[in-house]
Amino acid sequence: MFFSFIKQIELTVFSIAKTFGKLKWFLPVMWILLLCGCGQGTFRVSRTDTGMGTVIQMQLFGTEESQSVSEKLFYMIDEMEGQEISWRYPNSLVGRINQGQQGVSLNAELYETLLACKEISVASEGAFDITIGKLTRLWDIDSYSQTGNMQYVLPEKKAIEEACKESGYFYLEVKNQTATLTSPIQIDLGAVGKGIALDRILNVLEEADGTVYGGVISLGGSILTYGDKQDGTPWQVGIVDPFDTDKCLGVLKLFGQWCISTSGDYERYVEVDGVRYHHILDPRTGYPANSGVRSVTILSKSGFLSDALSTACYVLGVEKGMELAQKYQAEALFVDSEGKQYLSEGMKKFFCL
Ligand code: AMP
Ligand code: MG
Repeated sequence: MFFSFIKQIELTVFSIAKTFGKLKWFLPVMWILLLCGCGQGTFRVSRTDTGMGTVIQMQLFGTEESQSVSEKLFYMIDEMEGQEISWRYPNSLVGRINQGQQGVSLNAELYETLLACKEISVASEGAFDITIGKLTRLWDIDSYSQTGNMQYVLPEKKAIEEACKESGYFYLEVKNQTATLTSPIQIDLGAVGKGIALDRILNVLEEADGTVYGGVISLGGSILTYGDKQDGTPWQVGIVDPFDTDKCLGVLKLFGQWCISTSGDYERYVEVDGVRYHHILDPRTGYPANSGVRSVTILSKSGFLSDALSTACYVLGVEKGMELAQKYQAEALFVDSEGKQYLSEGMKKFFCL
């Protein structure tokens, strides 16, 4: 007569990849391994969908109202992308800034985000820069890796130099709750969009006031863990081996709320004559970053920081990247081009083989 309400769920992004088999643009970033103890009377919401150019996977545990919370979250992500942060929508706030409108009024969250982006640009000495929109569009690796059906033509050196000149965080003026471009640059929030979304998701979960006991939300390479599993075991987030994306290097075992983001050269790339050109660009050269690393994973309480720092640290490489992560009290795991792993002291406490 006893039913076990403990469900063993093993979700990997690869199972989502199968579900979304026709979406060629999906690429594995991290595995989420959930061995979830879902107690009696606990409601579970499990939903996989697309948004922000990636696969969104949501597992929530709580009361029956968790269902409406999950709907609210998907709606919020769509709204945020279309109305605020995507350059692809001309009427979004970023779209309007990119058109050169003066003093575009920002909401408090986007205002803080743009200020924080500028701060990371300074702290990373320009390795991280959201104003490289002209460069990212010139390389257009995101579009190519999403469709994969066009002949990729490498950009000309001269065009790269031009696009490089037409970028620079100092041309983005953020003050009095507004933003203005002081030179015709273009903003691309691709490096932080998912992290920002995780922070907003966290706010909604906290405001839902006890409705959601715990959960894991994955947006491409960025993951939020929230609350605790009812069986007392940790959340488990597997880190993809950049040399063999079918494999996991190890697992982060986490209790409570965390944000984890990975930037890697295996996520979005194109190969021309045996050379891999990936989507993380070095704003100082205009070319895909060549800092000797294959992937960087950042663990932080903040979604924004985990996402921004994973991109920045990828460009900076192990030594300078580790320093930057430390400056923001974030934990880091680097894998270099020889396969060697570098873990910050704090990361060692969570990373298990
Ligand atoms: P992520 O996967 O989080 O590392 O973000 C990569 C995305 O951020 C790219 O697809 C570009 O849209 C954008 N990006 C690439 N290089 C940089 C950089 N150095 N600084 C800021 N954004 C970048
Ligand atoms: Mg990032």
